[in-house]
Amino acid sequence: MSAKIIDGKEFALSVRGKVKDHVTRLVNDHGITPGLAVVLVGEDPASEVYVRSKGKATTEAGMKSVEHKLDAATSEADLLALIDDLNNDASIHGILVQLPLPDHLNEDLVINSIDPAKDVDGFHISNVGLLGTGQKSMVPCTPLGCLMMLRDHHGSLSGLDAVVVGRSNIVGKPMAQLLLGDSCTVTIAHSRTKDLPEVVRRADIVVAAVGRPEMVPGDWIKPGATVIDVGINRIDAPEKGEGKTRLVGDVEFATASEVAGAITPVPGGVGPMTIACLLANTVTACSRANGLEEPEGLTA
Ligand code: NDP
Repeated sequence: MSAKIIDGKEFALSVRGKVKDHVTRLVNDHGITPGLAVVLVGEDPASEVYVRSKGKATTEAGMKSVEHKLDAATSEADLLALIDDLNNDASIHGILVQLPLPDHLNEDLVINSIDPAKDVDGFHISNVGLLGTGQKSMVPCTPLGCLMMLRDHHGSLSGLDAVVVGRSNIVGKPMAQLLLGDSCTVTIAHSRTKDLPEVVRRADIVVAAVGRPEMVPGDWIKPGATVIDVGINRIDAPEKGEGKTRLVGDVEFATASEVAGAITPVPGGVGPMTIACLLANTVTACSRANGLEEPEGLTA
């Protein structure tokens, strides 16, 4: 194996350490405790796990964590009323509505009802517009985590060729905007892209956010390129025993790690950075709301 492994677990711990330090300063110097409210509608087991781990991480960082678990049949009006209360609650600096929502709720309407300054997921249309125009915004957590790891590895990203595979609103598009903001030459590839292997081969930086297990093999990677694998795919693992599964990314790690200069593993790469960046966004939102200095190294 030739690639450097970018250890997302370790990096996330350092981000969480910086968040905790900043929270301590806010509490000790200003008497302000940052607060994050997470809203979960329904009983999707995966979402419940995410919400629990977000709450635990928030508390561990010294912040206030509030969970609102609503019945799957909650009406849109009731959900909007809760968000309105949270928007007006001065002890809450970040609001996250766990997605996906049940079908009867209009996701865009709900997300756009969050105060943009408290939108720690960065999905509100105002934050999307601010990011797109290079202004200060709340940045979606997963792409922010990828950017932090890339900056840490490369120092400057200026002039590098970056290919983002995937054009979703939560990963691909904001990732491309962030790379552009750091002066990369950015290509966004998707399911209609012609000759994807050739497009990926041009890249100094490859960000794979597709949701297809091990779709990007090593022979698509330019030697020495940096590979950020956002994908989380659960596949059968009969070698571990009957009915067993394992997680893989969108990149074929075994072959890509022979060619790349640096690569994130799955698990243990981008995943841990997502929660760390949610905490970072909450402390950033709290600092901005109080007109205080933003935490260094935790924003885009
Ligand atoms: P979406 O399904 O919303 O988007 C997938 C994108 O991949 C689409 O733009 C699609 O193109 C593109 N795509 C699909 N098939 C191909 C193909 N054969 N060739 C090229 N492009 C293709 O996924 P998300 O962005 O939400 O998530 C992507 C992956 O990242 C998933 O595995 C998800 O689990 C993971 N993820 C991980 C997170 C983390 O914390 N590590 C957080 C969020 C997501 P088109 O638009 O043309 O259909």
